[in-house]
Amino acid sequence: MLEPRRTVEDYSVTELEAFKEAFRPAAEKYRGKMRRDPFIALILVGIGMISLILSKLIDSWVCWSPFLLAMAFLVMFGIPRIPKCPACLNQVGFTLDKFCPECGGLLRNLLFWGTSAECSGCNRSLVVGSGKSQKRNFKIHHCTHCGIPVDDQGL
Ligand SMILES: [Zn+2]
Ligand SMILES: [Zn+2]
Repeated sequence: MLEPRRTVEDYSVTELEAFKEAFRPAAEKYRGKMRRDPFIALILVGIGMISLILSKLIDSWVCWSPFLLAMAFLVMFGIPRIPKCPACLNQVGFTLDKFCPECGGLLRNLLFWGTSAECSGCNRSLVVGSGKSQKRNFKIHHCTHCGIPVDDQGL
């Protein structure tokens, strides 16, 4: 992680607007991938079923190769990466840091390498799931590292 040299208070309103504008294409791309997710899961289940049927017919590990290939493909290209902040160049909310991704308030009680925290602004308890699942109980409106607003709709 890069330590942000400047945080939200150090930027002018026009600078913040420009950052949000710069972030928009990445946010749209991320949302598009998230929407496609159930569809990809369905294809994977389908391939898994075919592999299962094949493995009943031919007793060989080769039957599972399409499934394994599909899994590898999914891990490499399917799981959307949280976009980088145009100001501090960190991923805006992969783990929690100083600022609340929901309201931009200051976080306290930061635990376990940024996987959970409480916000002193909106009083929420924020949690990030472990591993690559990226499950979390909040939407990202602000960069957690430097606090700038990145997306009105939320990621
Ligand atoms: Zn908050
Ligand atoms: Zn940032």
